[in-house]
Amino acid sequence: MAHERRGQETGGTEPPYVRSGLPPAADSGTAPPQTEGHVGTPVPGGVHAPSTSVAPCAPEVTARVPSGLVFGFWNGLCSDCSRMFGAVVVGIGTAGWVRIRDMLTPHPGSPAEKLAVRGFISRRNLDNQQGVSQISVEEAVSRDDIHAAFICTENESHEDYVRTFLQAGKHVSVEYPMTMSHKAAVELWDLAQKKGVVLHEEHIELLTEDFKELKRAVEGKVLQEGTLHFTGGALKPGFGFPAFSGIARLTWLVELFGKLSVSAATLEEDSAKGYSKMTAKLLTSDNRPLTWVEERQTGLPRAKNINFVFDSCTLSEIPAAPRGAVGLFMQDLIHFSAKISDQVSPSQLQGEKERVLHCLELADRIQQLCQSL
Ligand code: NAD
Repeated sequence: MAHERRGQETGGTEPPYVRSGLPPAADSGTAPPQTEGHVGTPVPGGVHAPSTSVAPCAPEVTARVPSGLVFGFWNGLCSDCSRMFGAVVVGIGTAGWVRIRDMLTPHPGSPAEKLAVRGFISRRNLDNQQGVSQISVEEAVSRDDIHAAFICTENESHEDYVRTFLQAGKHVSVEYPMTMSHKAAVELWDLAQKKGVVLHEEHIELLTEDFKELKRAVEGKVLQEGTLHFTGGALKPGFGFPAFSGIARLTWLVELFGKLSVSAATLEEDSAKGYSKMTAKLLTSDNRPLTWVEERQTGLPRAKNINFVFDSCTLSEIPAAPRGAVGLFMQDLIHFSAKISDQVSPSQLQGEKERVLHCLELADRIQQLCQSL
């Protein structure tokens, strides 16, 4: 079982992060994450025993991308280097707290230095956070020195905030999932295009060193069948249906195996025990079966277990990888800053948009199938 690196996503009631020396988030009661850190050390053996007929994948000697490589995202060219972007953070939980911290201490020499945090929005009246003061939504949308918004609230409120800020002509970075339906995401992207602003969905799970290792390990192999089984604590209210709250796992599968379709999906729930298990049966474009399981219950250890059977070998552990030099949220901040500074190619922007919409479409279909039973 490979223990999941924490600080990648929460919404669960389990202690979500490595504790850091930093003060707790204002309204979450949790310390902010050390997004750079490993929490668990992968240990052998997934929940699914590897196929006995196929050998385990041999460790591959590949050139390792330097830890903390973030600069592949932007081309180093700046159309207007002097331009600064004022930003507001909406929702001061763990993710919102980290967004403020990262804008106050951007990675030196990166496009994130162009962002200046001008305020935060919360549904409660809060004191200054890390020296930043609370402002209203009305003020944020009307201020000319605020060009971008970071939406870091519970999943179910993302859509409304994204729409509000796009409508006001602000760039938006939203924590995943952008919306709780594919249709709403298409509308938001159309709105962003109409307003000529950037719409970005954070996906720090793609920036982890272990995912990069896994991707390298999968590359060039022919999949026969596979499973990704996630376990974690019960979700807090407002984080939505498991296919949406767990979209990071679906995004992994799409990044690893390309476009997918859904053949079946079920949801088992025992609300008295706070238990839920969603099982989605997926197919790759060459009809290879992939099973995605999201299983949650209070106290269930947070872990991702894989079993990918290829024609040549079986991969049943996420490869261990040393921590990156640059935190995951910082990498995402750099990527967003590069986007709003016109430093990301149109083809990359289009590719990301297609991936996000594809995953949301799959999540929609999974939810429909689960709820049609
Ligand atoms: P959290 O519970 O710590 O914080 C959510 C915050 O939003 C809370 O402070 C809550 O008070 C605030 N909020 C809720 N509704 C609001 C509203 N209407 N107006 C203003 N504030 C409101 O959760 P989190 O871990 O910070 O997650 C937030 C988002 O970030 C989620 O979408 C989650 O999927 C995403 N995310 C988080 C992480 C992570 O490592 N924490 C990683 C990836 C994605």
